Amino acid sequence: MALINTDALSSRYRAQSIDLINRRLLITNFHNTEQEQDMTEPANCSGFGRIRHFIREKRPGWPSNPLPIDPACKALALPPSEILRAQVFQNASCNWRCWYCFVPFSLLSANRKYSDWLTPEQIINLYLEQTDPPPMIDLSGGQPDLVPEWVPWMMAELRNRGLEQSIYLWSDDNLSNDYFWKFLTDEDRELITSYRNYGRVCCFKGFNSQSFSFNTLAEPEIFERQFTLFGNLLATGIDLYAYITITTPSTEGINDDVRRFIDRLQLLDEYLPLRTVPLEVEIFTPVVARLDDIKRDALKNQWLALDVWQKELENRFSSEDRARNIADVPLKGSRIRI
Ligand code: SF4
Repeated sequence: MALINTDALSSRYRAQSIDLINRRLLITNFHNTEQEQDMTEPANCSGFGRIRHFIREKRPGWPSNPLPIDPACKALALPPSEILRAQVFQNASCNWRCWYCFVPFSLLSANRKYSDWLTPEQIINLYLEQTDPPPMIDLSGGQPDLVPEWVPWMMAELRNRGLEQSIYLWSDDNLSNDYFWKFLTDEDRELITSYRNYGRVCCFKGFNSQSFSFNTLAEPEIFERQFTLFGNLLATGIDLYAYITITTPSTEGINDDVRRFIDRLQLLDEYLPLRTVPLEVEIFTPVVARLDDIKRDALKNQWLALDVWQKELENRFSSEDRARNIADVPLKGSRIRI
């Protein structure tokens, strides 16, 4: 399969996914989509939303996932929890095509058949119209940062309605572009960095350029860009977290490459590996048709990479550090709320 030209596709999808004049965003509608089959509850918000239950525990042997449970509970002063109910909205485009993505590719191409234009006001109206709105809103994708205005527009809307303190806002970022810097105004960035109940998770796709390109279909050189983008966001003081997917087609050099990846994280911040969660790639309905022997091997290889990851973290951090609530792991640039 041909590699994606990340910058060209980002630009094209941005143009198709935001209406700056009318402050509207292209949001996925889940009705009659393949993604509906994997949803545990029917779509809500007239089809534009879905309820997701974030669960801390994963399969035996795989590390638990405290995101976004711990940051949200901390921000909202809720007791620690194993599960968090969240309202998810998805923007309708993504510039990459990860083979393991649980979103059907037909929902990532600004396809008007499965999406429509909504203003932040309309999104919040839909959210509030339900009987028991969850305490957290997740701006997911797709790649929300193709339209970075989505986050400050939602913040402004929540603030205008007096909901800023009672709702936690979370957004995803695939670390593919610099649109946060290119398209937001200083006022937008100031709003984001000063907004208390906000956290952001950035996903590293692979631990070396080969696994990165295999996972995303993006050019291997863009692997390096992820670190620059993350470092720039870190410097803003946003409450930042990271995921990493460690599926790889090859195990050659896996020990050194996983170690080097952790070194790179620590160059950004000594404690960043403790704010980074390895995500187990699982097989959702849209992924089945994308599988082949190499990808099946990659599913096995992620366990080898995990083994190296865990041993390295044991070597580099004390048990006390590793046991810390992820939202309390200090980062130099971060506004830690301890
Ligand atoms: S970057 Fe995220 S939304 Fe885009 S294809 Fe990959 S997993 Fe899916």
